[in-house]
Amino acid sequence: MTVRVRIAPSPTGNLHIGTARTAVFNWLFAHHHSGQFILRIEDTDQTRSQPEYTQNILDGLTWLGLNWDEGPVFQSQRLELYRQAIKTLLDKGLAYRCYTTAEELEEMRAAQKARKEAPRYDNRHRHLTPEQRAAFEAEGRKPVIRFLIDDDREIVWHDLVRGKLTWKASDLGGDMVIARASEQDEIGQPLYNLAVVVDDVDMKISHVIRGEDHISNTAKQILLYEAMGASVPEFAHTPLILNMQGQKLSKRDGVTSISEFKEMGFTAEAIANYMSLLGWSPPDSTQEIFSLEQAAKEFSFERVNKAGAKFDWAKLDWINSQYLHHMSASQLVDLLIPYWQSAGYKFDQINDRTWLESLATVIGPSLTRLPEAVEMSRMLFVESIEFTQAAVEQLSKEGATEAVRAILEALSDYPELSADNASQIVKVVIKEHKLKKGLVMRSLRAALTGDVHGPDLMESWVLLHQQGVDKTRLQQALNL
Ligand code: GLU
Repeated sequence: MTVRVRIAPSPTGNLHIGTARTAVFNWLFAHHHSGQFILRIEDTDQTRSQPEYTQNILDGLTWLGLNWDEGPVFQSQRLELYRQAIKTLLDKGLAYRCYTTAEELEEMRAAQKARKEAPRYDNRHRHLTPEQRAAFEAEGRKPVIRFLIDDDREIVWHDLVRGKLTWKASDLGGDMVIARASEQDEIGQPLYNLAVVVDDVDMKISHVIRGEDHISNTAKQILLYEAMGASVPEFAHTPLILNMQGQKLSKRDGVTSISEFKEMGFTAEAIANYMSLLGWSPPDSTQEIFSLEQAAKEFSFERVNKAGAKFDWAKLDWINSQYLHHMSASQLVDLLIPYWQSAGYKFDQINDRTWLESLATVIGPSLTRLPEAVEMSRMLFVESIEFTQAAVEQLSKEGATEAVRAILEALSDYPELSADNASQIVKVVIKEHKLKKGLVMRSLRAALTGDVHGPDLMESWVLLHQQGVDKTRLQQALNL
């Protein structure tokens, strides 16, 4: 059997982390089985679907590296297919027109509530006579189309994550609406459960992999597959993403859409890596850093948890830092340029490329999220710096001025400066002036960078020397 799976987002919002994680599992499963991963945009809800959300979803999946093999297929362009399916169900007597008004439904529910029963449609229009139907039509009532659900049925499937699942048809709320009434069309507007099944059959989807919030839809959809005489695919319901308190992750927990994670300075590789760990673990569970391709080799639903997956920011930060620390200087520069540009730093992308790459090599190992590079590299871009209180205190320590002056003097012998030269200068100053190494190093950092913390000192010094500002900085410190 060819594995064919799909991700089917509704463009009613930006690409959500939950949908993206479902996309990751679909992608991993497809790639594990050399199958196809298909993108379908479920945009039948015309009022809530927006083209900018579709674009955000396509951009987000592309950014994450979740390339699709077919699609995007838009449901809004396939209405005829759904109408045909509804017509067939009507013709076979498996669906019917229901004329119950909103007020009547309301009354029905109120009565059920009074009797302490669960709300459901009582199937009252299941067997209307042609005369009754004509009378409702004459009143001007617009029907919805309902699919017959046999209350005595029990729906059973073997879920690839959750094992055997059983659902009583009597808990599905009565005969299900598959098309909403429409002024223009006598079939009406096809609804979610019907469109999904028609598409999954038509696209020959072998495995439906989606969030566990869809389990009750699956029970309904299995009945639709049967009614259409189609074979039922396998199902895998993936665990929800929870916050650290164990509640469903929501806007209140901070960002939830992929474009926001991108703006926060996470790399696509880190997010994709972290999402694959949200509910799944590789057979070697000590392995935490891997690409989608590597994860795909090991992926199976046997290692997907039933329990919700807690979203752990600290873990995501750690994974992101691993990517940033091990990235090539060239890749890192490409990612950092937009941040440096928006900070207003002046540089020439082509002529300063080598210098920028050296800078990336120096700060890379200290980064957790990309925007941190702005502060970390400020002292290397701007001409004059302000000294922090701690730097001023460091420079007023005994021996500090002597050390800085001696370094400044020694520098005149070095038109060019390597990290080795820099260390040599420091060594000589320590020896000749009988100063403590810690004092010299801390004072040098304070003088060059205006702060007492920062990236590797010798490397930073070399970069400042290449910018031609190290002597000015040392002089500025002496003038304090
Ligand atoms: N459009 C549905 C959603 O975004 C898709 C569910 C499915 O995969 O069937 O939740």
